[in-house]
Amino acid sequence: MKPQVIVVGSFVQDLTWNCANFPQAGETIIGTFSTGPGGKGSNQAVAAGRAGAATLFIGAVGKDTFAGGARAFYKAEKIGARFIEKPAHATGTAAILVSESGQNEIVVALGANAHLSKADLPAKLFAGAQVVVAQLESNLAATAHALKSARAAGATAVLNPAPMRADFNPAILKHADILIPNETEFTALVNLLPITGIKDFTESQLSALGDDDIHALARTFGPRVVIVTLGKRGCLVSQESGYTFIASHKVKAIDTTGAGDAFVGGFTAGLVKFKGDFLAAARFGTVVAALSVTKRGTAPAMPHAREIAAFLK
Ligand code: ATP
Repeated sequence: MKPQVIVVGSFVQDLTWNCANFPQAGETIIGTFSTGPGGKGSNQAVAAGRAGAATLFIGAVGKDTFAGGARAFYKAEKIGARFIEKPAHATGTAAILVSESGQNEIVVALGANAHLSKADLPAKLFAGAQVVVAQLESNLAATAHALKSARAAGATAVLNPAPMRADFNPAILKHADILIPNETEFTALVNLLPITGIKDFTESQLSALGDDDIHALARTFGPRVVIVTLGKRGCLVSQESGYTFIASHKVKAIDTTGAGDAFVGGFTAGLVKFKGDFLAAARFGTVVAALSVTKRGTAPAMPHAREIAAFLK
């Protein structure tokens, strides 16, 4: 089946150690271990695919065991994947330490993800796609190229500017139809873009702003639609004609890691389901994100279409 949603982004193997307390420098402690598929791009592809959209994930991996695991995972999920092999580089990995109090410390090695190139993304890949979504966890030049190619192919180009990086070039924003920042990324964009005229803006200043002010700042970013996700409060959908606030659903949150990825993946599936109606898509993304926080983990916590339908009944 031709993909309706194409996700160009990162695959990262999550390696998680649970421990009582974080080790001090030079200290060795005993903990427990688990591992699973992660990476913002991959998590979003899983969310979109499970939510019902014909989805293709495109990302770079190494020639190693983790790449084999990634292929097997996508096969089991029945989600399309095009893994571009970079034999000189390792598959991306994240070392995640989680303490008993629930805090985490994370080191991500992008590995092969940083070497995805424009040549890996020929224009014909995007033909017929309705939505193409990218993040900032992969090679940035290839990411900009993917959004540009998406538009040229008539697809809606969606950018989730996560994680915000020191080498972020705001020029990429002109290739996005829809931008989906969280509070951290929104704050960084306000400080980065000269047009806002603001310096040293902080997240606590953002949380003190009214929705009118958030909308006014979002309008300076460039993309025609900006959806600011505001954690458990919900999200604000800003467009030229005004803004709409969508409250989150009240659920028993167990693990909010990956809520942003669930929202973005669910939103892209919603864009297909509701034929480009981005408010309906944002409401759908809000349901997908709410269901994802009721389970532990990131990719494994993404809800399937039947769970979403049951929630909406
Ligand atoms: P993360 O970095 O944890 O993946 P994020 O910071 O990118 O998340 P958030 O803005 O925290 O993204 O959350 C995205 C969306 O998920 C929100 O707009 C909201 O709809 C939903 N959400 C987040 N937390 C909760 C919660 N506790 N209960 C219900 N929905 C939630």
